[in-house]
Amino acid sequence: MSDQSVLKTKLGLNVFKPAKEPHIKVRPGMEKDPRLKPSVKICPGGCYSENEKGEVSINVDGCLECGTCRVECGTAVLDWNYPVGGFGIQFRFG
Ligand code: SF4
Repeated sequence: MSDQSVLKTKLGLNVFKPAKEPHIKVRPGMEKDPRLKPSVKICPGGCYSENEKGEVSINVDGCLECGTCRVECGTAVLDWNYPVGGFGIQFRFG
């Protein structure tokens, strides 16, 4: 089994409990900001996507709360918070 397969298998064990409000949001008007573009490639949870207009959006389902996007893109373009208590990821190490 390849390293990628092992990683996907282990990530698949995690449990995600989504909150009503997403804990990470693209700040309004920043959807096309170039500082957001790396998030589409670097997010290990695959939470970011870019549409044909060049607008980046986020779906926090599957967010690993690793903080990579916060460090790479910055809080000028992202409103980044941890989920409220009891929500978010529960890591299950297999
Ligand atoms: S915190 Fe990590 S997993 Fe969550 S959206 Fe940012 S880069 Fe992706």
